[in-house]
Amino acid sequence: RAAARDEEVPEWKKTINKPGQAPTKRSEMSMKEQRESLPVFAFRNQLIKAVEENQIMVVVGETGSGKTTQLTQYLAEAGFANNGMIGCTQPRRVAAKSVADRVSKEVGCKLGEEVGYTIRFEDCTSPATKIKYMTDGMLQREILVDPDIKRYSCIMLDEAHERTISTDVLFALLKKAMKRRPDLKVIVTSATLDADKFSAYFNECPIFTIPGRTYPVEVLYSKEPESDYLDTALVTIMQIHLTEPKGDILLFLTGQEEIDTACEVLHERMKALGPNVPDLVILPVYSQLPPEMQSRIFEPAPPGARKVVIATNIAETSITIDGIYYVVDPGFVKQNAYDPKLGMDSLVVTPISQAQANQRAGRAGRTGPGKCFRLYTEAAYQSEMLPTTIPEIQRQNLALTILMLKAMGINDLLHFDFMDPPPINTMLTALEELYALGALDDEGLLTRLGRRMADFPMEPSLAKVVIAAVDHGCSDEMLTVVAMLNLPTVFYRPKEKQSQADQKKSKFHDPHGDHLTLLNVYNGWKNSGFSNPWCFENFIQARAMRLAKDIRNQLEDTMKRHRHPIASCGRNTQKVRQALCAGFFRNTARKDPQEGYKTLIEGTPVYLHPSSALFGKQAEWVVYHTLVLTSKEYMHYTTSIEPKWLVEAAPTFFKVAPTDKLSKRKQAERIQPLYNKFATEDDWRISAQKKSGR
Ligand code: ADP
Ligand code: MG
Repeated sequence: RAAARDEEVPEWKKTINKPGQAPTKRSEMSMKEQRESLPVFAFRNQLIKAVEENQIMVVVGETGSGKTTQLTQYLAEAGFANNGMIGCTQPRRVAAKSVADRVSKEVGCKLGEEVGYTIRFEDCTSPATKIKYMTDGMLQREILVDPDIKRYSCIMLDEAHERTISTDVLFALLKKAMKRRPDLKVIVTSATLDADKFSAYFNECPIFTIPGRTYPVEVLYSKEPESDYLDTALVTIMQIHLTEPKGDILLFLTGQEEIDTACEVLHERMKALGPNVPDLVILPVYSQLPPEMQSRIFEPAPPGARKVVIATNIAETSITIDGIYYVVDPGFVKQNAYDPKLGMDSLVVTPISQAQANQRAGRAGRTGPGKCFRLYTEAAYQSEMLPTTIPEIQRQNLALTILMLKAMGINDLLHFDFMDPPPINTMLTALEELYALGALDDEGLLTRLGRRMADFPMEPSLAKVVIAAVDHGCSDEMLTVVAMLNLPTVFYRPKEKQSQADQKKSKFHDPHGDHLTLLNVYNGWKNSGFSNPWCFENFIQARAMRLAKDIRNQLEDTMKRHRHPIASCGRNTQKVRQALCAGFFRNTARKDPQEGYKTLIEGTPVYLHPSSALFGKQAEWVVYHTLVLTSKEYMHYTTSIEPKWLVEAAPTFFKVAPTDKLSKRKQAERIQPLYNKFATEDDWRISAQKKSGR
């Protein structure tokens, strides 16, 4: 069943493939030697000259050639940092952090001094910072406050081919800023495929190509479609480890949970082989990885051992790990998908594009000729995979983006200079969502509430919840809930102690649901004096809790800066549930007499997650934070509500059905969604377009 059966490899292919002749180990070189060994180094002076002569250019180069870590330093060395910072954006938080860490070591400073980073809820910069790595979302946020980004002399839009919404929006915002600021320099880095398109967008700007140093990679396909790619992947890894010459392995999986499981299972299976097989060092890589693990992935395996890195698609382009000779690619990625009709976001596992498949394969050819094991058939590659990935802006909820653009005074969304404009329907749904939240008025213009919402670095619905909590007098509690919602999970549930962990968790369960359960956990930890042993005892992840505390502090700062009072509702936590409705009235469902729940919008069947505090309870109406599609569509973080709160929270979205004969209580239960009215009423559409078009 495994893709990597030896007899499938033709003899001639076997002979060209001789991994294992590793060049001088990078780990044995000095930092200076390492820097100078990168392909980009030979072009240092040409690059600096090109930046001096051009306001904007596109730089193309193989992953790992040194663009991200070196270009910023070259610019700083050439004096560009003397009148402003050099900013470099990354689509991923963990990449921004890891690269900044690396560059600070190369520069020889403490992280946060000359070299720093800023990601949401984490600012590691100081007045001394010259080179600043940040997520593209953070730069977008800075432009909201300062459209000319006067603090920067150069901006490098890195990994632009990833086409995140924020990078796409930054394209247009920086294009504008460059007109107003002739001294501002912009570099856009990209994979080869997109370079011409980017250059055309930026008025045919020059393209600088750094020739790569790559070795051939032999690509092997599965003969039959795989029914269980995870198992196949692990079998393939063991086969490589036991039969192939030396060289490290990189496996692409879709997310943290899957990766942790894979690591565990692989570890068990290796152990079962006994002591006579060479060691396999198993390393997970995903965005929520603890910092001490993050640096471990770059360390070479001890002599005689082999390293296998199991990563999300973060290792596709953002992070380069040296010494990889084998790539195992199941062909999937977890992506945000958005259904504009339902106004619903969800994370779904989807097939990658051909471009991504080739990028993944390329990771095996950096140190020497490599092999890529594709756990899908060649026919699937040819006919089932898109040539390139669809830009995020065309497949995601745009509410936050539009709110920010409106807050920047950009109302003409239909004529905004998008490289690839989002579908009109997606824009309209976002406008409607913002309207229902009260962020836009019925002419599509930003309201005062909308402006206040834009101050919070989070989805509009969450920002609305925070502001509503101020009105309900429960902002103290809500800050905690919102901070906790920002974490993947705080509960620790090891395989061998699941029931014990579940029993501890149930002590925190609030009868009204998961949001208040999160509050109970945080308060429990707080009452213990933020103690680590308390976390350990209660099967709570201490690191996640510390992060929650950080986030909460930052939210508190934002509140104070904008003069929102922080008040506690004490035991009256019903207010928290009411305030939740103010932002998440779309994410609501009613118990289905047959089974599970049905969403109030569209009546989609959804289910309580077995880990929910409401599981097995009889909550009739609920609000949930997100939907996660696995075997079923599960609601994550679910809380019971009363239907009348919805009408109070979103009067333009829900109304009480006018059935005079029913009792008051029954009436309150007969709430009707009004959203269809806006979805179909041409008047509103036209007025929204007209107003946003002026
Ligand atoms: P590019 O941006 O062109 O893909 P990078 O500048 O990210 O290239 O990487 C250049 C080199 O720096 C790579 O060989 C990579 O392995 C190395 N590198 C990057 N981050 C680290 C780190 N944290 N530790 C050790 N080496 C690193
Ligand atoms: Mg890079």
